[in-house]
Amino acid sequence: MQIFVRTDRTHVLHLAADATGKDVKEALQRRCGIDAESAYLTHGGRLLVEGRRLDSEGVSDDSTLYAHLRLLGGAKKRKKKNYTKPKKLKHKHKSVKLRMLKVYKVDDSGKVQRLRKQCPRCGPGIFMATHFDRVYCGKCTLTYLYENATD
Ligand SMILES: [Zn+2]
Repeated sequence: MQIFVRTDRTHVLHLAADATGKDVKEALQRRCGIDAESAYLTHGGRLLVEGRRLDSEGVSDDSTLYAHLRLLGGAKKRKKKNYTKPKKLKHKHKSVKLRMLKVYKVDDSGKVQRLRKQCPRCGPGIFMATHFDRVYCGKCTLTYLYENATD
C-alpha cells in the first residue's frame, strides 16, 4: 500500500499490506536518515504502536502519518527561582476573647444596638465585616463596596 509520511516534508512510502509501524520507521530511516529510534508515528492524532500492523491501526492506502522526533532535553530541569523579596505573610486568624461584644452596644435607654451591617442574604444575626472600603459577609462572601471612602 501507499502511504504518506509527513516530517518536515511529505514522503511517499510503498509498503507491504502487512507492514507495521516499525517498517514505516525503517523505510523512513532509509529514505531520509531519520533516526528510527527517536521518532514516533501518529495517525489521526493517535500514536501508532510500533509492532502492530498498520491496517489494525486504521491506516489504509493513501493514509497520512506524521513522524515526530522526540525532543532532546524536553524535560529540562528548571532553575530554582530566587525570590528577591521576603515572602508575604499570610493573613492569620486571630482569636479575640469576647470579640462579638464590639458588634453590639447597649445604649443609655438599655436598647441593644447592632454596630455592624447584617447580611441581607444570610439574614439577621450574620454580621458583615467592616473593612476600610467595603463590608463583607464571611458566610456567603457577599461584598458591598462603599461608593466613596468617606461613607
Ligand atoms: Zn451573607
